[in-house]
Amino acid sequence: MSNADLVIKDGLVVIPGTGILETDIAVEGGKISALGGEFTGRKEIIASGRYILPGIIDPHIHLGIFGDLVSEMETETRSGLLGGVTTVGCYMGGPDPYYPSFSNTIAMTEGKVSTDIFFHLGIMTPEQKEEIPRLIEELGITSFKLYMAGIPGLIPDVEDGFLYQTFETAAKIGDGIIICVHAENPSINATYRAELQKVLTDGSLADWSDTQPNFSEEEAVRRASYFAGLAGNRLYFVHISAAESIRTLAAIKSANPKIFVETTSPYLSVTKFSSKGLLAKMVPPFREDASVEALWQAIQNNIVDTIGTDNVTQTLAVKQVEKGMWGAMPGYPALGTHLPTILNYGVNQRGVSLVKVAELMSKKPAEIFGLYPQKGTIAPGSDADLVIIDLDKTVKVDHRNLGSAGDFSLFDGEELKGWPIMTIKSGQLVVKDSQLVGQSQGKFLRRSIG
Ligand SMILES: [Zn+2]
Repeated sequence: MSNADLVIKDGLVVIPGTGILETDIAVEGGKISALGGEFTGRKEIIASGRYILPGIIDPHIHLGIFGDLVSEMETETRSGLLGGVTTVGCYMGGPDPYYPSFSNTIAMTEGKVSTDIFFHLGIMTPEQKEEIPRLIEELGITSFKLYMAGIPGLIPDVEDGFLYQTFETAAKIGDGIIICVHAENPSINATYRAELQKVLTDGSLADWSDTQPNFSEEEAVRRASYFAGLAGNRLYFVHISAAESIRTLAAIKSANPKIFVETTSPYLSVTKFSSKGLLAKMVPPFREDASVEALWQAIQNNIVDTIGTDNVTQTLAVKQVEKGMWGAMPGYPALGTHLPTILNYGVNQRGVSLVKVAELMSKKPAEIFGLYPQKGTIAPGSDADLVIIDLDKTVKVDHRNLGSAGDFSLFDGEELKGWPIMTIKSGQLVVKDSQLVGQSQGKFLRRSIG
């Protein structure tokens, strides 16, 4: 009998890429020290036959867009932790050079985040593009984002020439760097928006979807994939929403293994006909049922690599639904419901396997963004970030229990079946039955192109 800091007994351990093992997990110094074997723990958790997943990695969140960055580092990572998310990838942007000022943002995470965090930086100007090697070397940031279509009034679009040149810059650096792209055609969107503005002074959530048609996303996917094929860089499509894009990506991905696809848990569970109306206004918009089904099919067929949230923390006062379709802000908080929506709509309703869930929500985000195997699996040497789930637990969602600074949820009032019941971060039990029970100290994850 050896000693360990913590032993988790009697769980069904879901190991992405491997399967489900009935085994104990020993934890020492915040890392997994062994699977199986005879251990006595100074602390013990009895999992009672429940499934244990590697801590969820949400590769796509935003912090500080509408609220204070530092306070959202606290509230939103706490919301993530309550929902079984132990690592977040946060997009940051702005028109100014990042070096060296972004090191201050990294320093701000200290003592604030309760999940681990890594950053992706938006590349919007030639100066920022020139900074890329330095941002990798000196700040440990290896993922960058380009907006083929921005958010009108908030984020500018980039031209194709700039997009292609950034891809070439990335290709020269190699496969350690990854370029993320928001794929939509801004000219198509502008035309559709202008036409609708002539006839609609206000509109529904479904009308909002018509301002950014499905083919606008599909076309941009084709174009960016073509450029990436020529340049030779790794390319990651954020928040893919439309069936048309998925169909195209199935062909593109079979020809180019350097192309990766993310969708989001809201796109897998909400349509443009949602009863939440304009509260669900988003960019890209929610689509029709066929797209939701195509996304689930793409998860089964390995076309989708990762699932994020695109969490944008918002209050009703910021969202301003009362300003109507044109005036309401896009975005919603989604970290606290990320895993429950996938367990409800995917595992419980569609028979998606937990091994698949662990792959798309933990292993692949870790691999694609350079964090594997420190993150993304349950194996000796990996960080002891774990989530124990109860597939039968049913909870009616109430945003007040989700820990976010946002004061609404897309799922308020909806019963979701399948919830995390314990979150273990760096070997500490930090959430039990949706309550914080321990202090979690998250850290900035410095990456290298190794
Ligand atoms: Zn986003």
